[in-house]
Amino acid sequence: MSDPAIPVHWQSVRDHSRSFWDFTYVYPVVSRRSRGLSIGINLNPDKVCNFDCVYCEVDRLTPPRTRTLNLLQVRAELASMIRLAQSGELGHDPKFIEAAPLTRIIRDIAFSGDGEPTMVPNFDECVQVAVDLKTSHQLSDTRIVLITDAAGLDKASVRRGLALMDAHQGDIWAKLDAGTEDYFRQVNRSHIRFDRILSNLLLTARERPIVIQSLFLRIHGEPISDIELGAYCDRLNELTAGGGRIREVHAYTIARPTPEPWATRLSREELEARALVIRQRTGLKVEVFE
Ligand code: SF4
Repeated sequence: MSDPAIPVHWQSVRDHSRSFWDFTYVYPVVSRRSRGLSIGINLNPDKVCNFDCVYCEVDRLTPPRTRTLNLLQVRAELASMIRLAQSGELGHDPKFIEAAPLTRIIRDIAFSGDGEPTMVPNFDECVQVAVDLKTSHQLSDTRIVLITDAAGLDKASVRRGLALMDAHQGDIWAKLDAGTEDYFRQVNRSHIRFDRILSNLLLTARERPIVIQSLFLRIHGEPISDIELGAYCDRLNELTAGGGRIREVHAYTIARPTPEPWATRLSREELEARALVIRQRTGLKVEVFE
């Protein structure tokens, strides 16, 4: 179950906008999955992604403020945001008033953003920035999280970055929404082959435990079928049988409006029912987040 201490109606929970004050790359959110304050680093200000998920909330109609990733600026912004959190100033922002007590504790620094973080050519250098500031600000309990669609987990710079994360409380939250190539194409609309996603998940999960994040939804009114959910469970079982370690599965649904009006959310009960099936068929820990 998700943390009852963080109500879903808080503005800081509902509004996961990546624009905050005059920051370009760094943004604060209160995340139920992080159980508190997460400082996001948007590595894709150009809004480029190798998936085109039907439920994606990124506003690609508005032109990006910048298309380049300036790591010096990322470093400066991250240092400022850490200071804002630690000083308590962040909690005075109207967006965070309800969550003020949570904003002094930085639960994680998360690579996420308006696209896929592993698409940057220098992912390892990005991780180094987070590691440097985590260390210099004595954030010994703060995790470094990568939220990824898994397509780039086999790239050399990404693998170096993951190894660096491993040494500094890293956490990988990898997307898997489908059990078959067909449904993968329907939901994630990527040109990347589904078996590459699966082999990347296996490669990564053999080296450290990972979290699987799965969004379940209705497409034109139809929720994921029992057959597809069974295939999805089969894929999870293949990952564990192949030596991959899955720490837990995060099952969630659409929380905010999406550009595709026919992609709609499941009810809490529908989500719980699917989580139960996954638990029964895989034996994995499954947490539900609305
Ligand atoms: S992987 Fe994330 S950013 Fe990319 S299309 Fe899907 S939801 Fe959007």
